[in-house]
Amino acid sequence: MQSLMRPGSIVVVGGGNDVRKPGGKVVQNLAKHGFAKLWVVNPKSDGVQDLPTFATIEELPEPPELAIVAVPAPHVPGAVQSLIDRGTRAFIVLSAGFSETDAAGRKLEQQLIDMVERAGARLVGPNSLGVFTPAYFGVFGGPEQQSVPGTIDLLSASGSTAAFIMEAGLDRGLRFASTVSVGNSACLGVEDFLGVLDDDPGPNPARTCLLYLESIDEPHRILEHARSLHAQGRRVVALKAGTTEVGARAASSHTGAMATSDAAVGALFDKAGIVRVSSKSDMVDAAGVLAWSRPPKSDDIVIITQAGGPGIMLADALSSHGFRVPELPEELQRELLAGLLPGSSARNPIDFLAAAGPDHVRHVFRVLAEKAADRVGAACFIFGSPGLFDIGPALDVLLEATRTMPFPVYPVLPSTRTAAEEAARFRAAGGFYFTDEVALGRALGVIRRTPPPAPARPELPAIDSGSIRRAIDEAKAQGRTHLSPEQVGRVLEAIGLRLPGQAVVRDVSDAERAARQLGCPVVMKVVGPVHKTDVQGVAVGVRNEGEVRETFARLMGMSGAEGVLVQQQAQGLELITGFSREERFGALVLFGLGGIFTEAMRDVRMGLAPLGRDQARRMVEGIKGSKLLAGVRGRAGVDAEALADAVVRISALAHAFPELREMDVNPLMGQGRDLLAVDARIAIR
Ligand code: ADP
Ligand code: MG
Repeated sequence: MQSLMRPGSIVVVGGGNDVRKPGGKVVQNLAKHGFAKLWVVNPKSDGVQDLPTFATIEELPEPPELAIVAVPAPHVPGAVQSLIDRGTRAFIVLSAGFSETDAAGRKLEQQLIDMVERAGARLVGPNSLGVFTPAYFGVFGGPEQQSVPGTIDLLSASGSTAAFIMEAGLDRGLRFASTVSVGNSACLGVEDFLGVLDDDPGPNPARTCLLYLESIDEPHRILEHARSLHAQGRRVVALKAGTTEVGARAASSHTGAMATSDAAVGALFDKAGIVRVSSKSDMVDAAGVLAWSRPPKSDDIVIITQAGGPGIMLADALSSHGFRVPELPEELQRELLAGLLPGSSARNPIDFLAAAGPDHVRHVFRVLAEKAADRVGAACFIFGSPGLFDIGPALDVLLEATRTMPFPVYPVLPSTRTAAEEAARFRAAGGFYFTDEVALGRALGVIRRTPPPAPARPELPAIDSGSIRRAIDEAKAQGRTHLSPEQVGRVLEAIGLRLPGQAVVRDVSDAERAARQLGCPVVMKVVGPVHKTDVQGVAVGVRNEGEVRETFARLMGMSGAEGVLVQQQAQGLELITGFSREERFGALVLFGLGGIFTEAMRDVRMGLAPLGRDQARRMVEGIKGSKLLAGVRGRAGVDAEALADAVVRISALAHAFPELREMDVNPLMGQGRDLLAVDARIAIR
């Protein structure tokens, strides 16, 4: 991997003079960026771009540490094998025509994989745009730029997307330290390079890593490395494409990506502390906050603007993302206004009018630094141009402030045409800016909502594994795909969840007796059909013995009826919890509004098991209907801690018993700390 990141020598096999072709362009890029020990292999030319050029690999004066291969696909395995024979162990294959095309291409790619694995070599691609690091510029496409160490690493499943992300970023002032386009990921994927960034950061590690993903093959490695990067003060921002059915189809025809549900991706990123974005521009905005500045120190944001409208839109955006835009104390307002043009406002937004110049900007920052450093979490600075004068001098003051103020300052420069030159100078001097204030608010919001990574080994509650094991074995012996209500009851009790008082009965006198013991009204349900309500198999509010008899007869008459469950009637909010399994990810635990709300609103949160208490609490508090938990309009609420505890217990069960395929408790009903698992299903493998 060292040879891939910091090679001492490079050969381009298939390098040429035509810089409109990958082999020519990559040679030009490597040479232009000053890579010293560079060779070309090309049988048809003896002097490619004035570099030492050889007709065959065998003629190279010594084994190159890294080979960049740009010959037609059918010739790639031969070239790679010759290089392996000479001792090269690192490869970047730019050539296309492999698994992304057809069966023949897949075969060719497998040949390559076998060859590389046998030799213990490392290979990027095929179908890669290339790699650049501070050590070399080995890409054949994408915008002109210099690697700037300590800024941003970009790992991408798609070369052209990497190029477009860089275009969008460079346009606004981002710089990149390295880019790896993994192409078809035949041997090395994004996970591997995330590992390299983590394990071998070098002297000046980039603060931010951007990922563009089309498939997630090793979620646990992403989790592990993102966690470790976070501990080093480095953040990961990721875009996973192909999370809808149509998108997944597009992705699978692009790079043969395997589909992963959106919920699984969300749960993984959440657990890993990865900032999730869904567009290139959102990615650039988030990277701007993390790599060019810092997240706000607190939720109190000051808006400084010389135009009213954007200030209002930003105030709306910030407050919708949970930030405050507090009115500034009068004393502070007076001091601010003392150095501003008449008619300015300093309540927050601080609006210093379109005619404001560098002195006004300097004044605002000085007063805020001296008098308000402890009450400001960050400042958003919107500075457009009225088109009447050069705003460059004011932007110089702004750039200085982004570097010296005691809190982060986020510049928004909306005059992309009128002040294009000033903005270009701002970028050239090392500044980054946003062009849309609401997009800035969104970036701050998504970063604010992204929790730190969950601890690697959460504390798990004790569960009675013996009892669970017996229930599962019994169900298996009975050939069941779902545990019986009674087996479900034992499992729930074993993990510490409470059930309503209940009995499964098979004749009417037992039904009457159960109702008497539980106390009417009771609930009666058919045992057998999986979705009971759908077949009118649930009767709530059964008030007396007459109704018990009537209901019993009706339920037993249903097709598939094995008996009747007579159950204590529960009260309170209906919630749902449970888990499902996602290939490669493990168990996805769910929490949300239950009963009829589940289908109508889909107000649920997902977490990757095993869950710690903090993560479970965030899931509980993260549902849209979380206000219902506190109780509204005289309705009793439900204790969030008790819910989080239930979620943790479900996750511990999922984690400990992989043969449980899925589970749902719907509804979990409750008031206060009193939770009852009213209806639960558990499917086994
Ligand atoms: P299914 O999900 O198979 O349709 P449930 O047992 O979840 O059957 O019952 C459906 C609905 O009936 C629940 O969402 C809830 O509104 C109500 N219900 C069921 N059991 C009870 C109970 N013990 N107490 C109060 N309401 C109940
Ligand atoms: Mg149910």
